[in-house]
Formats: sequence, C-alpha cells, structure tokens
Amino acid sequence: IKKELLKAEKLNVVSQLAASVAHEIRNPMTTVRGFMQLLQGEVLSNEQKTFISISIKELDRAQEVINQYLSLAKPQTEEFEVFSLTEVINDSVEVMSTYAVMSSIKIKKNVAENLSIQGLKVEMQQVLINLLKNAIEAIKENGEIMVKALENKHGQIIITVKDNGGGMPKEQLKLLGRPYYSTKEKGTGLGLTVCYQIVKRMKGEIKVESKENQGTTFTIKLPIPNVNPR
Ligand code: ADP
Ligand code: MG
Repeated sequence: IKKELLKAEKLNVVSQLAASVAHEIRNPMTTVRGFMQLLQGEVLSNEQKTFISISIKELDRAQEVINQYLSLAKPQTEEFEVFSLTEVINDSVEVMSTYAVMSSIKIKKNVAENLSIQGLKVEMQQVLINLLKNAIEAIKENGEIMVKALENKHGQIIITVKDNGGGMPKEQLKLLGRPYYSTKEKGTGLGLTVCYQIVKRMKGEIKVESKENQGTTFTIKLPIPNVNPR
C-alpha cells in the first residue's frame, strides 16, 4: 500500500507541473508547426524536405507527450455523464483506421448496439485510442485487431481490444501502467498510465493477457451506469 501511495504521489507532482507548463508550450509549438508546413510548400532540395518532415514528426511527438500529461493532470471535478459507448468505440476505430491502413492492419468490430456507460466521453475515447495505437504498433504487418464490447449477464460492460502482434513476456506485464515504462525507441510510456488512471476513475478494471509472438488482449470491465433518482 505504501508503494502504491508513493506512486500516486509522484504522479500527482508530475501532473501538476505538467499542467502548468503544457498550456504555455502548446501555443508556440503550434506556431512553429504551422510555419514548417508553409515551408513544405516551397521549392526545396530532397534533404531539406526530409529535415522539415522530421521536424514536424518530432513536434507531433512532443505534442502527444503533452496531451498525455494533460489528461493525467486534468482536475477530477468535471461531472461524469452517461454516454453511448457504442458511438465512442465507432468513432475511435474510425480515427485510428488511417493509421492502421498504413501498416496493412484491419480493425474488426463486434460491438453491441446501445451500450451506455458513465464517465467522460473524451477520456473513454482516449483510452480506446491509446489501446488501438499500441495494438497497431505491436503488429509488424498484415495484422488484425478485434474490438468487442458487450453487456454480460452480471450487468457489466466488457470491452476487449485484441491484436495478433508481438505480445509480451510475463515479466513485462507487471510493468504495464508504470509512468515512462516503454520498450519503444520513441515511446512516451504514458499511454497505458493514462488508460489505467481513467478506467480506475470510472470504477472499472483493466486486465491484460499476452503471449509472445501471438498477441495481446486488453479487457476493460466497467459498471453499468446507475440511474440517478431525482
Ligand atoms: P508507449 O506506447 O509510448 O511505449 P504505453 O504506456 O502505451 O507507452 O505502453 C507501454 C509499453 O507496453 C509499450 O512500450 C509496449 O512494450 C507494451 N505494450 C502495450 N500495449 C501492447 C500491445 N498491444 N502489444 C505488445 N506490447 C504492448
Ligand atoms: Mg502507447
């Protein structure tokens, strides 16, 4: 328990710092990115084109880190709402499908209609996008991702994101969700931290099953919204 507390505390300090800095860094970055894009339209040597395209990619990566930090830092005072999970899943899959197609990956869906949950829509979308992004990155080529969502007989919502990518060894599973834990050369190691925190806030659970060279399944269990009597 002590360890958990320490972890939560560390995260809190990081979050507060990040929140104050992030807003001020975002604007100048947007300006720089805009000018870089303008330069792309000029007559340039191949080398110059490469430099500009790398610069834009790196700016986007920095932006992603900031976005993940911000969601860790978000004040938890925002009101939860009841919203359609089915819609959020459909949107998230659509957002990520361009990225998937670039690596010849198919995202399949088996999602029940009219699933509702309680929480923040943008946060749920971020959870799904983070999981889908990881799934895509775990697949070298010609992979398949399956997204399922249903209501079980105990009245809980079960969401699974399954990929047939590289998977993880057992020792690695224990480290998931730890801030900055990443095996990727350019990873932030914040994606799953954000997912775990958001799902926890929604009083849900995340479980991971994984086999090396076979794939990984993330399962999210969420309570069905309680109807507020007024
Ligand atoms: P990042 O993606 O920036 O590395 P994450 O927090 O999203 O950070 O993920 C942490 C690590 O967990 C990844 O670097 C990867 O090693 C592992 N991981 C997460 N999802 C998967 C997956 N679907 N398949 C294999 N490994 C995964
Ligand atoms: Mg990630």
